[in-house]
Amino acid sequence: MKQDSPRISNTVPVLVPTPSERPYTYAVPEGMAVEPGSIVAVPLGPRMVAGVVWDAESADKVDPKKLRAIEHLFDCPPVAPDMRRFVDWVARYTLSAPGMVARMVLRVPAAFDPEPSTPGLRKTEALPDRMTPARARVLDLASDSLGWTRSGLAHAAGVSLSVVDGLVKAGSFTEIELPPMPVVATPDPDYDAADLSGDQQAAADALRGQVAAEGFSATLLEGVTGSGKTEVYFEAIAAALEQGKQVLVLLPEIALTQTFLERFHGRFGAPPAEWHSDLAPKTREKVWRQIADGRVRVVAGARSALFLPFRELGLIVVDEEHDPAYKQEDRVFYHARDMAVVRAHIGGFPAILASATPSVETRFNAECGRYRHVRLDRRFAEAAMPELHAIDMRRTPPARGKFLSPPLLKAIGATLEKEQQSLLFLNRRGYAPLTLCRVCGHRFQCPDCSSWLVEHRFRGQLLCHHCGHHELVPEACPECGTLDHLVACGPGIERIAEEVVEAFPDARTIVLSSDMLGGVKRLRLELEAIEKGDVDIVIGTQLVAKGHNFPNMTLVGVVDADLGLANGDPRAAERTFQLLSQVTGRAGRTGKKSLGLIQTFQPEHPAMRAIVSGDAEAFYQNQIGERERGHLPPFGRLASIIVSANSRAEAENHGRALRAAAPAGEIMVLGPAEAPLALIRGRHRFRLLVHGPERANLQAFLRAMIGSAPRPRGSVRVSVDIDPQSFL
Ligand code: ADP
Ligand code: ZN
Repeated sequence: MKQDSPRISNTVPVLVPTPSERPYTYAVPEGMAVEPGSIVAVPLGPRMVAGVVWDAESADKVDPKKLRAIEHLFDCPPVAPDMRRFVDWVARYTLSAPGMVARMVLRVPAAFDPEPSTPGLRKTEALPDRMTPARARVLDLASDSLGWTRSGLAHAAGVSLSVVDGLVKAGSFTEIELPPMPVVATPDPDYDAADLSGDQQAAADALRGQVAAEGFSATLLEGVTGSGKTEVYFEAIAAALEQGKQVLVLLPEIALTQTFLERFHGRFGAPPAEWHSDLAPKTREKVWRQIADGRVRVVAGARSALFLPFRELGLIVVDEEHDPAYKQEDRVFYHARDMAVVRAHIGGFPAILASATPSVETRFNAECGRYRHVRLDRRFAEAAMPELHAIDMRRTPPARGKFLSPPLLKAIGATLEKEQQSLLFLNRRGYAPLTLCRVCGHRFQCPDCSSWLVEHRFRGQLLCHHCGHHELVPEACPECGTLDHLVACGPGIERIAEEVVEAFPDARTIVLSSDMLGGVKRLRLELEAIEKGDVDIVIGTQLVAKGHNFPNMTLVGVVDADLGLANGDPRAAERTFQLLSQVTGRAGRTGKKSLGLIQTFQPEHPAMRAIVSGDAEAFYQNQIGERERGHLPPFGRLASIIVSANSRAEAENHGRALRAAAPAGEIMVLGPAEAPLALIRGRHRFRLLVHGPERANLQAFLRAMIGSAPRPRGSVRVSVDIDPQSFL
């Protein structure tokens, strides 16, 4: 490359965590050896921020007088080339600033410096002048010549610290630096492989084959709950570990997947490192750093784990690939399942998408050969699928003011008699979704959102599920002042629990939801208690639907199967099918005869029929047909634009301006229309929906549209959501 001025020859582009479209150029101080991927501290305005040295083609020319220098190069492995390409790719695809995507990689600044070593002790040949039994115990223990911490040694030998200190003084120990402790031990692919059934073995061989091929592939691993998908993809993980590769397993609710960690531990002799928002800060740092250093080989994590600094990633498994939790709808809007496939493509390795009820998109990709399709059609061993029935709520309605129909109550009673467990599922937290005054009709609404306040009776609060606003349940109506005439409308799980306790006062009943006091720890304990059989009736939200194995659970009752069908979402039927299949799949995991009862007002709805008949195939064909007719994904492309502002008029006007700026052509823009959730946290929201044919370049269209519309001013914000999952 021709260098025209020595003064600016030594500059590099640095991607900083800001919404800027391009990296900024910085000077490299003499003697500092940076390369693409180096993590550096740079001045940005008045602040110092961490950034990543980016690839040369992105460099901007900069006025030498304005050029600022890199302040510090962290002693940290550089962000790998694959990862840099991934960041650029995600930014382009989601129309996000690359810096905002890089920000997700740079989340843990404390991990950029190497982990400090721990002061330790190592035994020397020197013996102390005076020997005591305590001293002898310490010396005997430490004769393995490994390093010990001072307190670890005292503890292991059962002596006080002063005994150890005395030996140090006597010269029997030297002080050394111990390397940082690994967060997890190294998993061993040969530790304890399961005896797979014939089908399972065939599936495992197919997946192992993909890993052995050492190139990109995407495989849908489809099999009913309990068919052994986890056991099967463990074999793919073993194959990747044998090749010296790092592995990422994405799970939709990592905080609840204690069972997964234990099973992994059982199979590989060590647990995977966990990655999710609930980790202690110190653990977070250690995990991030040890992934970058290559010391952590397997990570089980939530969607954000895609942005961890792997060096040798060679396999990604996305478990429950259909789960809506994989979609991030904040700052950078991305779908972790889709981005996992992209990450695998860039890295040239396999991605495995596992599910009992795949998304229609993935199912179609597998059908048309874009993805491979590996299937497990039966439950493992003697476990049979539950027998499923719809309860027609028009024919057998519950008693007045109640929500459980006579057939469901009868089944709960029968299950109690057999000393087995029941699960009642309702995807609604709290006591009641709406509270109103019987006298004047006043409804309690969030002051900052267009949503009703949900009564949480255990806490004595009315709570907004969108912004967290809460107030005490008043005794009098704030509008008309009448005392004691507030009524709860509709059920939440707390209300169902009340009904259950009334009907079965001697049963041990528990309510499980994400707003249970005590957080994840408490939840884990409760789940263990259920597994051990200390509970008779569980009432829960979707939290209990996922991944758990309750051996004695033989009845699952779905309290309101129609709940998800009401909101006008194009994926409503698919979501209902997935959620209810997953919930009813909690029953009968160990061969006991089991039953799933689904309370519905529309037993003839295709989603209900598919669940009850078990004919998933027909359901998928029906859904794929509908998508094709509507030119919806995967037969067409969608993007949402959400315009929000402090006033309704500002949001609407900017929405109109965007619409007016849309280039002409085959891509259509619908809206702006007021969003169903018109107000969140005091911000008014309008939506535009962009709909194009499958081959359309939506990103180019959106860029042109946003680029030629006036810049958002004042409080106006524009978010783009490519492949939207939510339309609220
Ligand atoms: P899925 O992920 O498809 O729901 P799992 O892998 O969780 O299925 O398997 C369901 C249950 O059956 C688990 O308890 C698992 O340990 C057990 N299981 C499945 N396959 C085997 C096997 N080959 N050997 C022993 N246990 C198995
Ligand atoms: Zn609110």
